[in-house]
Amino acid sequence: MNSIAGNIRQICQNIESACRRVGRNPDAVRLIAVSKVKPAEDIEKAYRAGQTLFGESYVQEFRDKFLQVNEPVEWHFIGGLQSNKVRYLRGAVAMIHSVDRLSLAEEIDRQWRKINRTVKVLVQVNVGDEASKSGCSVTELEPLVEKISTLENLRICGLMCLPPHFDDAEQVRPFFRKLRHLAEHLSAQDLPNVSMHELSMGMSGDYEIAVEEGATLVRIGTAIFGARVKK
Ligand SMILES: *Cc1c(COP(=O)(O)O)cnc(C)c1O
Repeated sequence: MNSIAGNIRQICQNIESACRRVGRNPDAVRLIAVSKVKPAEDIEKAYRAGQTLFGESYVQEFRDKFLQVNEPVEWHFIGGLQSNKVRYLRGAVAMIHSVDRLSLAEEIDRQWRKINRTVKVLVQVNVGDEASKSGCSVTELEPLVEKISTLENLRICGLMCLPPHFDDAEQVRPFFRKLRHLAEHLSAQDLPNVSMHELSMGMSGDYEIAVEEGATLVRIGTAIFGARVKK
């Protein structure tokens, strides 16, 4: 039996159960299979199991797999991004989850303008205020969103976070809740060109809690594809 297919089935069941516990519609949650470090064959196995949305974190590796995988999958870029590499994502990804500074948003806007298209972006927030993590600070968030919202070739559709790690996943809950509250607060400002309907939060160890707290996109690697050998 194909364990990738089995893992995906199990995760979808767990997402449904988490939705049921809090009265959410499971259709409001999309699973992103985080395929970084894993070969294109694994993506194809997941695709044959019905998975169509994939997340990658490294630009060069994404380029390789983008060329290798011929199935009509939807790609999201979820990793840290340098402005000088944005052009390699142009037209190839449907969403970028890791926008945390104006200069990066401006470069994304510039690249997508060249192809006369728009791209969806999420603003990454450093909810745990950790020096080691990227993401804008909570205090920077609102002015950053306002500035990015004036750029024509991208659309802000929500927030993303990578909260602190705890062995007990329950301890992550307040950080997920914080991201949801930030999105609710911004949504109430009714900024032009800003929608806050996506919350990208939850990974292999804590996605059920993220779903209980309102995640609409969960990013799961290890629980689908198995452990990664460190890059
Ligand atoms: C690697 C990665 C994930 C997936 O993590 P797992 O614990 O393997 O599920 C999710 N989000 C981001 C931003 C990542 O880089």
